[in-house]
Amino acid sequence: MGLSTSKRLVIKIGSALIAPNKKGCSSRYLLGIAQFIVRCRERGIQVVLVSSGSVAAGAKLFDENQERTVTIKKAMAAAGQAEMLATWDKLFDFPTAQVLLTHADLRNRDRYVNIKETIACLLENDILPIINENDTVTTDSLKVGDNDNLSAMVAAASDADTLIICSDVNGLYDKNPNTHQDAVLIPVVNDITPDIYAIAGDATSLVGTGGMKTKIQAAEKAVSNGVHTYIVNGFNDAPFNMLLDGKNPGTYFAPHAKPMLEHLHWMTHTSSTQGEVVVNEEFSGDLLNDKIALNAEEVVGVNGQFSAGDTVLVRTDGGTRLAKAKTNYSSCLLNFIADQDSDVTAIMSNDQSDSVISNKGIAMLNS
Ligand code: GLU
Repeated sequence: MGLSTSKRLVIKIGSALIAPNKKGCSSRYLLGIAQFIVRCRERGIQVVLVSSGSVAAGAKLFDENQERTVTIKKAMAAAGQAEMLATWDKLFDFPTAQVLLTHADLRNRDRYVNIKETIACLLENDILPIINENDTVTTDSLKVGDNDNLSAMVAAASDADTLIICSDVNGLYDKNPNTHQDAVLIPVVNDITPDIYAIAGDATSLVGTGGMKTKIQAAEKAVSNGVHTYIVNGFNDAPFNMLLDGKNPGTYFAPHAKPMLEHLHWMTHTSSTQGEVVVNEEFSGDLLNDKIALNAEEVVGVNGQFSAGDTVLVRTDGGTRLAKAKTNYSSCLLNFIADQDSDVTAIMSNDQSDSVISNKGIAMLNS
């Protein structure tokens, strides 16, 4: 429990902590968190900070009666990002680095590897990476959308062993603690079931984007990667002191005993599918049981346009989602093969190495 064995952690701070007045930045709640980061580093724990706050910081520069369109929010993020970073930077006597990411960056394998290498290099050089979503350049289809999920993706990209998500409540409760006085804190979650999501509900914070639901999504991503995950109250110092003392101050999500392989975790939780490869129901059993390679002759349908190397959804003709996988064939080539006679199909799929999806590039889905 706590940080007794941690070597590298990611801590996520939401807008409510950095902008308690919903506008501008304040160090009121950040001082204790900065002190925690300093103490972790003194113990040899490397820290990556994921911080929101650029939109709130920039908001004070815009007419408050103006409608908050997507464009205005992007402009607020651009105007506020420097202040958000400076607010953190002045609390440390070691260097910080700004890393701005989008989902489009994270789901592209080459860019993802670059992100991993940059974070590792910053940490090796004792520089604190401060990561935020690059709201200015994103559209809905290219953004993560909330920094809770971003922090779990960053935990994977950083090879972190611990993720701490700061909230305005002490952790996950069995009921909404803001509306139910008898709500009870759930100290440990070993398995993130649909019941846990039901408890989390849809509530969102007034300032930031995420609520408890996105925190659970983040925890689910992180634990399947073997990351110890905590939701703690970021508004006072006690939870941080408890973490440093090896205790659990909030809700602890236990990591899976057998974490997913790195590239399969990335495929499942970070990359997005560019199209679909459809197999028939009979074949799906083989795929599920043996994780065997998928050859062109087993493909009964192709949806969307994708290139070789893209991530695709493998589903049955009955609609069951089976897996996310890296395709070795483009949609164009698969459609071409489907239009040829069976001899061509046999030539192109006889060799295992020519499989549409190899058994090493497939991540089965649970639902
Ligand atoms: N990227 C946003 C910001 O800097 C925050 C997103 C979130 O609240 O999760 O304001």
